[in-house]
Amino acid sequence: MADYVIAIDQGTTSSRAIIFDRKGNIVSVGQREHEQIFPKPGWVEHDANEIWRNVQEVIGVALAKADLTRHDIASIGITNQRETAVVWDRKTGKPVYNAIVWQDTRTQAIVDRLAGDEGVDRFKSIVGLPLATYFSGTKIVWILENVEGARERAEAGDLLFGTTDSWVLWNLTGGPEGGVHATDVTNASRTLFMDLETLEWRDDILEAFDVPRSMLPKICSSSEVYGVAENSSLLRETPVSGILGDQQAATFGQAAFDAGESKNTYGTGNFLIFQTGTEIVHSKNGLLTTVGYKIGDEPAHYALEGSIAVTGSLIQWLRDSLGIISSAPEVERLAASVEDNGGVYFVPAFSGLYAPYWRPDARGAIVGMTRFVNKSHIARAALEATAFQTREVLDAVNADSGVNLEELKVDGGMTANDALMQFQADLLGVPVVRPMITETTALGAAYAAGLAVGFWQGLDDLRANWQEDKRWTSQMADEERDRQMRLWKKAVTKSMDWVDDDVK
Ligand code: ADP
Repeated sequence: MADYVIAIDQGTTSSRAIIFDRKGNIVSVGQREHEQIFPKPGWVEHDANEIWRNVQEVIGVALAKADLTRHDIASIGITNQRETAVVWDRKTGKPVYNAIVWQDTRTQAIVDRLAGDEGVDRFKSIVGLPLATYFSGTKIVWILENVEGARERAEAGDLLFGTTDSWVLWNLTGGPEGGVHATDVTNASRTLFMDLETLEWRDDILEAFDVPRSMLPKICSSSEVYGVAENSSLLRETPVSGILGDQQAATFGQAAFDAGESKNTYGTGNFLIFQTGTEIVHSKNGLLTTVGYKIGDEPAHYALEGSIAVTGSLIQWLRDSLGIISSAPEVERLAASVEDNGGVYFVPAFSGLYAPYWRPDARGAIVGMTRFVNKSHIARAALEATAFQTREVLDAVNADSGVNLEELKVDGGMTANDALMQFQADLLGVPVVRPMITETTALGAAYAAGLAVGFWQGLDDLRANWQEDKRWTSQMADEERDRQMRLWKKAVTKSMDWVDDDVK
């Protein structure tokens, strides 16, 4: 009897395989980081072959650690870094170029060209997104225009596009020998090509981008059997039956299914998702409209999203580029060694500013520097930047939805940082709540996969699994909170208007 579900979490920094039991407890984990490739300023790539090798390896590690075989696994779920674009040859399975990662800003000129006189909101009422380098559509265009022979091969029907869910699914189900080329509605809603109402690719938008429709995967629901793992796989014949983009998966894993429920994930970047039910809500405050999830034939559920590009990756930058800490958790000690930020504000607009500003012309700024400031203040300002940015996104959610959020469910690597979570509650003025199982991204994918094969009966089973671990409540006076937000907003203005013809 199969008592477990396995989730493959193909993330920005690593790939994981996590095995869950029926209560949603973690049974075992396999994890492997992959290389972050930065060929030029603003460019971020991954080697898709390395990612697929790592996925296979971590599946083996997770099974071995738990002493389980494929017979114990009811189904496979996939969750993934969204918007990261892979283009590969359907006959050989070889990528034509490295995966272009969601943070990559090389496509700004393509964005400007497409925006033309109509501006970046040209397709927003249809797809829910502004034109931005962030989304996968512009990355496909770059590959077609810059990789030798790619355009001709694509026109001939030889090339396939996918975000990394599709890349993993296609390889897992057979690759060149009958691999399933599909994606789910949540990933499709991040391309700039999917009509939010019909949940289908829009031919007029594909034409505007000049992307052949034959490259695109079939759009499926988030919870259905897409195919089975191929024979050479350790999981052979096991159904692959759940796909959710990482942020939607985390929301699902937090059992935030209904309109008005939300979660905020603190990882490489920060992503707040606010469910709006079966209604499509268009933001007036810089949020994205996206698909939350779709279970089989049931109607799609939509969400508003506030994406922040740089949060946890700023801590990585302190470690890898500045060298003032040797591990991410060490930032806690450094930040705690000073009483406050010493007047320093760090706006990490490394890829421009995402929500709620959407300013590609912004670049990183550390302001308020005096001779008094030392590396501890910088570390503290870097941590605080995450909480400030989150508060601004939450203000936008409150304005768009017309109801004030009463508490914030959180997850992700940075929620291990107690001081940050306390500062977050202080800045929000509402409680911040962390569940027992913080691997909500993988859990959400496991849930979607398990629902499709009857491993779980319905959403109530999943709600019953959610348990609170820790809660932080605000201890900051209103005047101090207002003062901090005023200074932060002033710092944000200093990061804008930096990129011009001379500075890219
Ligand atoms: P992702 O899934 O996006 O790869 P994770 O949820 O695993 O990210 O979170 C990892 C991020 O959290 C890293 O960017 C790391 O810098 C940051 N991080 C980890 N531990 C801490 C900590 N104690 N304090 C602050 N940031 C941390």
